[in-house]
Amino acid sequence: MRDTSSNEAQWVQYPYCISLCVLTLRRTSAPQLIRPGQSRVLAGLPFLFISLFCGWWGFPFGLLYTPLCIIGVLSGGEVVGGVGIPGAAGAANEGCTRCGSLDVVFALGLSRCRACGHRSG
Ligand SMILES: [Zn+2]
Repeated sequence: MRDTSSNEAQWVQYPYCISLCVLTLRRTSAPQLIRPGQSRVLAGLPFLFISLFCGWWGFPFGLLYTPLCIIGVLSGGEVVGGVGIPGAAGAANEGCTRCGSLDVVFALGLSRCRACGHRSG
């Protein structure tokens, strides 16, 4: 079992799949910000339900991917980084991933640290 709680905010992506007859699309959610103490499993439930309701209908891959996606959510998704990761645009100003400075500017999906010049996004 992985520990699904953390003392720090984390960006987490969840797997899900959607089936359209013989075609099954296996997707990864946009990074979700999980705050300290927040359950990564609970935060992933919307994606679990997408797979549950939309994933099964494809043969054979829907039947194959749906359980994998559900397991992926139940194991807490995939942590893609700590605070200040791309996708955070406008949502959080929690510091530079390189130097830790809080002087980070978010604009147009990019973040730029004014202390060290580090860019992400
Ligand atoms: Zn920096």
